[in-house]
Parts: sequence; structure tokens; C-alpha cells
Amino acid sequence: MAYDFDLFVIGAGSGGVRAARFAAGFDAKVAVAESRYLGGTCVNVGCVPKKLLVYGAHVADELEQAAGYGWTLEEGHFDWGTLIANKNREIERLNGIYRNLLVNSGVTLVQGHARITGPNEVEVEGQRYSAEHILIATGGWPQVPDIPGKELAITSNEAFYLKDLPRRVLVVGGGYIAVEFAGIFQGLGAATTLLYRGDLFLRGFDGSVRTHLKEELEKRGLDLQFNADIQRIDKLEDGSLKATLKDGRELVADCIFYATGRRPMLDNLGLENTGVELDDKGYVRVDDQYQTTAPSILAIGDVIGRVQLTPVALAEGMAVARRLFKPEQYRPVDYQNIPTAVFSQPPIGTVGLTEEQAIEQGYEVKVFESRFRAMKLTLTDIQEKTLMKLVVDAKTDKVLGCHMVGPDAGEIIQGLGIALKAGATKQQFDETIGVHPTAAEEFVTMRTVTR
Ligand code: FAD
Ligand code: NDP
Repeated sequence: MAYDFDLFVIGAGSGGVRAARFAAGFDAKVAVAESRYLGGTCVNVGCVPKKLLVYGAHVADELEQAAGYGWTLEEGHFDWGTLIANKNREIERLNGIYRNLLVNSGVTLVQGHARITGPNEVEVEGQRYSAEHILIATGGWPQVPDIPGKELAITSNEAFYLKDLPRRVLVVGGGYIAVEFAGIFQGLGAATTLLYRGDLFLRGFDGSVRTHLKEELEKRGLDLQFNADIQRIDKLEDGSLKATLKDGRELVADCIFYATGRRPMLDNLGLENTGVELDDKGYVRVDDQYQTTAPSILAIGDVIGRVQLTPVALAEGMAVARRLFKPEQYRPVDYQNIPTAVFSQPPIGTVGLTEEQAIEQGYEVKVFESRFRAMKLTLTDIQEKTLMKLVVDAKTDKVLGCHMVGPDAGEIIQGLGIALKAGATKQQFDETIGVHPTAAEEFVTMRTVTR
């Protein structure tokens, strides 16, 4: 049977665009449908605008450090409207680049909401398209717990378009987004409180990293409240918001920002017309080659709920394109040792096993840990400390995990990710010549076992 397309991709986000471009590059006839914005979450309401706001907040640090280096500056003034307008302009530029990337690779771009109407058929704006393969790459959406007054709260989607910087912000959650946005709001001058329901935020990260970041954020004056959960939100007469906590306390703010995880975006996708099954958390169930329980339908990225990071969605997109149209080049995605950064202030960079995971997996562990004041701060009054940590298998000397909290942690951890993928030993770290004077050289000069 002749289909309109070899591959119909639903969603022009990180994973969908990568799969579509690669498939078209392998001479497949490809269409991609997008209902909102080219580039998806990462480009429009995720990684990119987030990092621009983080840079904006970081300027406050640079200004604070300037005096130690002899600079006298007029009192600074920050204008949220300028930052957001400049950010929006950059996002529009990137949307155009994504459009060109797709069109120039020969992909047919279909604008509108796509709904699957059968195993080989998709409908967009009343038009039906047939395809041999359908790829679901529809990403995720913020999830806010169902409490009275939840409609008064915002999520990351809205935060990027706030008209003004709120004076007082409550950030709810203890994951990547909560910690990053708490740093953005606070860095830009808002009185910020982070509320997390558990004992310590960033569950799943290394224990030393979590404790170190907590201490550093407190030094910066961020109000961290753990074991705290909002029961209801009410609007007060003056327009501000009152959060009543489960323990009865009341907090008042101008903005309540929820970052309590993301659900798969499956709204009106027509899965009932297919044999696609969901897993017990509601994500699309796929096998190790991204095939759903319907043979002609595949899924990648946040919608499968494996690792919700852009580079992972890109790798999965590439794997699908190769598997379908260039099987001789197919390589499975390696989910081990994925480096990642949390762009908090200061940032976290991490790759490999945490100390807790290594112990849980039965390794006999040697830990090397170092805390120091970065050289750049020595001419300033700032007392921030950097943390670096290596988790080593005592039996084989293999480095199992590298963790850092401090300036440029994301930049530094990328290279260590390669070392771990190559199976580097602690001895090889030790034999590597440092780059002097940098903070990064500490990773090759830690000699004393801490634990
Ligand atoms: P998405 O990029 O979400 O793309 C899905 C696309 O599908 C969207 O454009 C959507 O409009 C479209 N769509 C959905 N349904 C339909 C339909 N029925 N028809 C047509 N189109 C549809 N990751 C990092 O690696 N680093 C970071 O620093 C980082 N920061 C982040 C910050 C925030 C605030 C958020 C929310 C996420 C961040 N992420 C980060 C995660 C990253 O953005 C996601 O992992 C990544 O975008 C997932 O890509 P995807 O292709 O699965 O989905
Ligand atoms: P996360 O899953 O990282 O964190 C969700 C947080 O919300 C957790 O602390 C969780 O607590 C808490 N939570 C969940 N449900 C509730 C509830 N009902 N009430 C109170 N608290 C709740 O999600 P995010 O929204 O922060 O980010 C989504 C994903 O996007 C991340 O996991 C990451 O993969 C990706 N991302 C990556 C970034 C990067 O690479 N720098 C930046 C931003 C996002 P608990 O731990 O107790 O379950």
C-alpha cells in the first residue's frame, strides 16, 4: 500500500525534529505536525529561555564581586521587561532556525494539532495523512496537584511570560525546575521561598551535593522550607496570594510557582484509535527500540518518561530514524552515565552513580571529597564554597561518579562524562595533568580518601 509519508512525526520538539531531519536525510518521505511552537519545550519554555534567565540572575553575582576587583559601579537597576523582551526575540530567531532546518531537509511541516485516527493515519485540522510509521514525540506538560486555588498558581510555562518580576515568590517543589527558578527569582531580586514536601530537596542526587547546595542557598538568603506543603491558595483583597500550609502556617506572596513534575502530553491524541498502551505511570509504553504496543507507532522523548532531558530526546530521535531507515547504522541509546546539570546558583554538575546508589548496588566505595573557596572569590567578601566529589570502586579503581556544586559545574562535568564512558580509573584521573589555575583541576588532584 502506498502511504502519503514513510514517517509522520507528531511534535516538533527536541526529539521529533531530530528524528524527522535524520529520517529525511536517509531519503525517507517525512512530515512533522506541530500545534504550538517549533523547537518544543526546550527552545520555547525550557532549557534555552531558562538558561538566559539564569545568566540574567548571575549578573547580580558579578556585580557583587566587582568591588573586590577595584570596580566602583553606580547602583544597578534591573528591568524584567527588557530581559523578557530580549529573550522573546532570541526564541523567535530560534523558531525560524528550526523552521529552516526542517524545510531545508525536505521535511513537510504541518501546522496544527495532530490526532491519530488509525494505525497508519493522522488527522490535522480536518486533513488526513497516511504514513507507514507514526512517531509520537509530544513531550510533557507541567503538573500541579489538585488543591483548592490551584488556578491561582503559575508553572514554568507562564513564568517565562510574566509581565513584572513578582516582589515575593513561593516556589513549590524540590526538583530541577524548582531549584533553578528559585535561583532565578532570588538572583533577580524577588524575596523567594522554596517549599519542598520532603526532608531535603533534589531527591536522587548525591547526598553531599544536596546538603552542600542547601547550605549555599541559605547563605544567599533563600528561604528554604522543607517538610512544607501547601493545602490551599486564596486570593486576598489586595491581589496578593495566601498559601495555607498543611501544618496550618500561612504565607503571603505575589506569585506562587509550582514545579511539581510533568505529565506526558497525550491530550486529544487519539490513542483510543490505536493499540498503544500506557505504563503504570501513564507514559507511553515502548520496547527498547521505541516501538509502542501498536506495531506501526513509535514514541520517544518526555512522553515515554525515561530520562526527561533534551540530549536524551535527541539521541532517541536519532536512534529511531536510523532503526527505520538506516538499520546498518543503528546504535542503541546508552542510558548509563548521562551527565546532567542543575542550573541553580551555584550550579550542580553530575555524572554517574551517587555515593548512595553505589553502596546500594553493592560496590565497596572510596569517596574523595573536596570543599574550597574558588580563587575568583578570594578578593571578595563572598564566602561561597565549591564542592567536588569522586565516587570510586575500591576493588577495580574505576570512577563510578563525579559530582560538583560550584561555578561552571555544567561545563566541567561534560568532559568528565567522556572519562566515565571510557571507563576511567582513579589512577588515570590522578595521572592526568591539571589545568592551572582552575577549579576543574581539583578533579585530578584529590588524593586523600574522605570515606
Ligand atoms: P518537547 O520538546 O516537549 O516537544 C513536544 C512538542 O510536541 C511540543 O512542541 C508540542 O507543542 C508538540 N505537541 C504535543 N502534542 C501535539 C499534538 N497532538 N499535535 C501536534 N503537536 C503536538 N532539559 C535539558 O536537557 N536541559 C535543561 O536545561 C532543561 N531545562 C528545562 C527547563 C524547563 C523549565 C523545562 C520544562 C524542561 C527543561 N528540560 C531541560 C527538559 C527538556 O525541555 C525536555 O526533556 C525536552 O524538551 C523533551 O523533548 P521532547 O521532544 O520529548 O518534547
Ligand atoms: P522533577 O520530577 O525533577 O521534580 C518534581 C518535584 O516536585 C520533586 O521534588 C517532587 O517531590 C515534587 N512533587 C511532586 N509531586 C508533588 C506534589 N503533589 N506536591 C508537592 N511536591 C510534589 O520535576 P520538574 O518539574 O522539576 O522537572 C521535570 C523534568 O524536566 C526534570 O525531571 C528534568 O528531567 C527536566 N529538567 C531538566 C533540567 C536540566 O537539565 N537542567 C531543568 C529543568 C527540567 P519528591 O522528590 O518528593 O517526589
